[in-house]
Amino acid sequence: MILKPTRKGLQLAQVLEKEGISNRRVLDTIASTPREHFIPDALKHKAYENTALPIGQGQTISQPYIVARMTELLLAQDVAPMHILEIGTGSGYQTAILTQLFKQVFSVERIKTLQFQAKRRLNQLDLHNVKMKHGDGWQGWASKAPYDAIIVTAAAKEVPQALIAQLSEHGRMVIPVGEGSQQLLCIDNKKEQRSQTSVETVKFVPLIAGELA
Ligand code: SAH
Repeated sequence: MILKPTRKGLQLAQVLEKEGISNRRVLDTIASTPREHFIPDALKHKAYENTALPIGQGQTISQPYIVARMTELLLAQDVAPMHILEIGTGSGYQTAILTQLFKQVFSVERIKTLQFQAKRRLNQLDLHNVKMKHGDGWQGWASKAPYDAIIVTAAAKEVPQALIAQLSEHGRMVIPVGEGSQQLLCIDNKKEQRSQTSVETVKFVPLIAGELA
């Protein structure tokens, strides 16, 4: 199945473009990814609103704007990124976007039931270039490292050193950091030099240590 743009998807992409998202490939992917597929039945009517929504287990599907923003930051690298690690699979929506823009996606989720559901949803959409793991994202996924890009979709109280160690020598990581007020950080590895910029204030659920059955 190749995903095709829908009327509601195109409308959402237009809203995100007005909010400042400029990467055409990201906007096209938003337009053709069925967000309602990743949302509980009772909330499907809100699927194309630019808001985070509850997905059970106290977790949320991220706001489309932030999904697009983080994705375009990861794509804007000197060397085209191929291999990406996602921490916090959640609903699988961000994962679905990534599978269409990166060659191979690795995704870690600490809540087994969410991971299970996300895997089924991606299979149903024929998005297969993703490997998933139930585990603690603070540890990353060392055996598949290094990654050209790392995206963390839950807020860490500090940057996990294991993730820094798994970033390739030219890689980029985007991660919300902070307790209370959170900043979206963009961390660049340039051989020996590492730089960090603060992109914007964000609001994510916390990155909790340890896994949950
Ligand atoms: N990108 C997801 C965001 C889900 S919310 C989406 O749009 O649906 C953040 C997710 O991170 C939750 O599913 C939560 O269970 C997960 N999470 C929190 N701490 C984690 C950890 N240490 N390791 C892996 N996943 C974690």
